[in-house]
Amino acid sequence: MTKLTKFGIIIQEGDKMKEKKKTKNKANPFIWAFYTFCSKVFLRFKHHIKYNRKVFKKRNKKQGCLVIYNHASNKDHFFSTASFNYTRVNYVITKHFYFNKTLRKVLTLVHAIPRDQFKSDLLSIKNIKKAVETKSVVAIAPAGQITVHGEMPYIDPAIVKLVKLCKVDVYALRIYGGYLAYPKWHKAKRNFPIKSEFVKVLNKEDLEELNDNEIYQKIINSINVCDRVLQKEHPHKIKGKALIEGLEKIIYYCPKCKSYHTFKSSGNIMTCQNCGNSIRMNKYGFLEPGTNDSIIFENESLWYNYEKELIKRQIIDGTFKIEATFKLKRNIKEEYLLEEVGEGTLVLTKDSFYYDGTINNEVVHKEFALNSLIQLPFDVGTRIDIPDSEGTFEFRSLHDDATVIQYVQAIDVMRELRLSKE
Ligand SMILES: [Zn+2]
Repeated sequence: MTKLTKFGIIIQEGDKMKEKKKTKNKANPFIWAFYTFCSKVFLRFKHHIKYNRKVFKKRNKKQGCLVIYNHASNKDHFFSTASFNYTRVNYVITKHFYFNKTLRKVLTLVHAIPRDQFKSDLLSIKNIKKAVETKSVVAIAPAGQITVHGEMPYIDPAIVKLVKLCKVDVYALRIYGGYLAYPKWHKAKRNFPIKSEFVKVLNKEDLEELNDNEIYQKIINSINVCDRVLQKEHPHKIKGKALIEGLEKIIYYCPKCKSYHTFKSSGNIMTCQNCGNSIRMNKYGFLEPGTNDSIIFENESLWYNYEKELIKRQIIDGTFKIEATFKLKRNIKEEYLLEEVGEGTLVLTKDSFYYDGTINNEVVHKEFALNSLIQLPFDVGTRIDIPDSEGTFEFRSLHDDATVIQYVQAIDVMRELRLSKE
């Protein structure tokens, strides 16, 4: 059936239906334009952002595509949205953000795709595929969460399956400066310039020609950004007065007196309260000895990995155990309604991970499937989530300290040990 529109263009009714189908996954254009405009203004004035969009502009617009990006801060959506320059994209967003009612409304308006963190989530995979099939650009951070120490986190090889299923070209958006501007552990205001660039990772033809490992390597190499590497080549000052504050929430082991949880930070200095070992963060974000007899690691990533090594030794010799008290939040009534339901102890050993406490005034013992955990989503010092088939288990720390990071590190170590045996 044909119809004359008011602009005098004859269109087929069927085409109109198709056209509707094509655009129904896209964000409201006015909201998106406003969001992009605000992101660009904010980044221009605050971060003097520089873009390189050449590769993305040349993409085949008759097809959808996937854009993967490195994830260094919660502000990344501003960096990426501004980089996309008014092109409407479908972001894949972790469900954690949907617990906030206002944010959920916004994410729904911009047709973000909710995804469970570190759990198999067939519905989100289906939605991603549907979006690229209707010529959308889908943006996803394959790491699933922000880097805690500046280096790329573990990326689950399941990303290869997703990419192969979508059968579209894959681009990477590399964001530089995000970690130094907003490290996950930071407490005080700081600022650093941001740069972004698009690179092509895979043509859809590559997905049939390359094996899974080759695809995986191309993906991880394309988003392996570490701000410290660039900072060594072209040092740039970080603006801020308390650059090291908050680092003690991830760096809790003193290599001088071998004590745990004894660091306190103030300004640009972090000091062990037991032995006086002091560490300074310089204006470029590098660690330096505070005094001549300080014992430190070269950077927070090496330090963090050494802490993981200590946990690994305890796991291997069978002495590993951590426990702490938490408030528990669950989504029992509705998927996106997170409510405080109880309080108790969370215990992690090399063989078991369980919660002994209350849920709605009943005493419970809840075991988690330790061997299937890949990573724990978390906020530094305050929160860990345990991916579980029964729904969300969010644990809020009752002691704002580095214990939270020990659970995160231990689950990472256990995954690494499992993979090394395979
Ligand atoms: Zn010490």
